[in-house]
Amino acid sequence: MIIDGKLHSKKLCDQIKKELLQISKNNKDTPMLSVILVGDYLPSQIYVKRKQEKAKEIGIKSEIIRYPKSITEQEILNKIEELNNNSKVTGILVQLPLPKQIDKEKIIYAIDPKKDVDGFNPYNVGKLASGYKSIVPCTPLGCLILIKSVIKNLEGKHAVIIGRSNLNGKPMAQLLLKENCSVTILHSKSKDLKKECLSADILVAAAGVANLVESDWLKSDAIVIDVGINKLNDKIVGDVDFEKVKNKVKAITPVPGGVGPMTIACLMHNTLECFKHR
Ligand code: NAD
Repeated sequence: MIIDGKLHSKKLCDQIKKELLQISKNNKDTPMLSVILVGDYLPSQIYVKRKQEKAKEIGIKSEIIRYPKSITEQEILNKIEELNNNSKVTGILVQLPLPKQIDKEKIIYAIDPKKDVDGFNPYNVGKLASGYKSIVPCTPLGCLILIKSVIKNLEGKHAVIIGRSNLNGKPMAQLLLKENCSVTILHSKSKDLKKECLSADILVAAAGVANLVESDWLKSDAIVIDVGINKLNDKIVGDVDFEKVKNKVKAITPVPGGVGPMTIACLMHNTLECFKHR
C-alpha cells in the first residue's frame, strides 16, 4: 500500500476550511499567520511561498516579513515582540535555517508559545514531552496522521525512528510514546541500524541520507514513513529505497507526495489551533 500524502493533506485542509467557515459565521476575528523569512536561501523561499499559497487557499490570512541576510538578531527579536503583542497576529513562524549571526535558540524562545505554530518553543516542547496537549511540530504530526491512516490503534507496536532532531526525530518519539508504542530512536552514532529496523512495526526515517533504508532491513508487515528529502542524480528521493521496499512492506509513503504535503497541512492545523486557543 502506498500512503497518499496528497490525499490525506487535502482531507485535513478540507476539514480546516470547513471549521474556518463555521468560525467566521460567529466571529469577526480570523487566524493571521506572520512568517519571518531571512535571506535568500532558495528552499526557504519555496517553502514559505507554498505555505502562503496554502493559507490563502484555505482562507487563512498570512503575511511574509522579509529581511536581508545581514539583519541583526536584535532586529528580529524586536519584530517578534511586536508580533507577540499584536492581537491580530495569531500565529508566528520564523523560517529556518537562519544566518550564522542569529542564535536560533533565542529566536524560538522569543515566540509567544500561544502563537508558536511550529511547536518549537521549549514551553510547547516540554508540554509534548510531558504528554500534555500541545502544539506539535508539523512534520511529526503529519507522520502520525499517515501512520494512523493505516492502523488506528498503535498500542504495543514497536516504533523505530531514525534521526533525533528537535524538528523530527524527538517529537516523533514523544507522539508515538503517547500512542503507547515502544520507541527506539536511532541516530548517526547508533550501531547496527539494520538489526534495530528489522524489529520495527513502524519505521520513521528522518536522517536525511538518500536510500539509507534497504528492503532487507524491514519486516513484511512494517509501516514505513519516509521523512527524508534528498537530492540524488537530480532526483528528489527519500531515506528509504522506495522502489525496492514498496512491494515488501505493508505500507509506505513516497517521496515526494508523502510526508511533505502533510507538513504544510499540519501547519494550517496548528495555525487554526493557535487561533482557537488565543
Ligand atoms: P537533521 O540533520 O537535523 O537530523 C538528522 C538526524 O539523522 C540526526 O539526528 C542524525 O544523528 C541522524 N542521522 C544522520 N545520518 C544518519 C545515519 N547514517 N544513520 C543514522 N542516523 C543518521 O535533519 P532533520 O531536520 O531532522 O531532517 C531530516 C530529513 O528530513 C532531511 O532530509 C530533511 O530535508 C527532511 N525533512 C522533511 C520534511 C518534510 O516535510 N518531508 C520536513 C523537515 C525535514
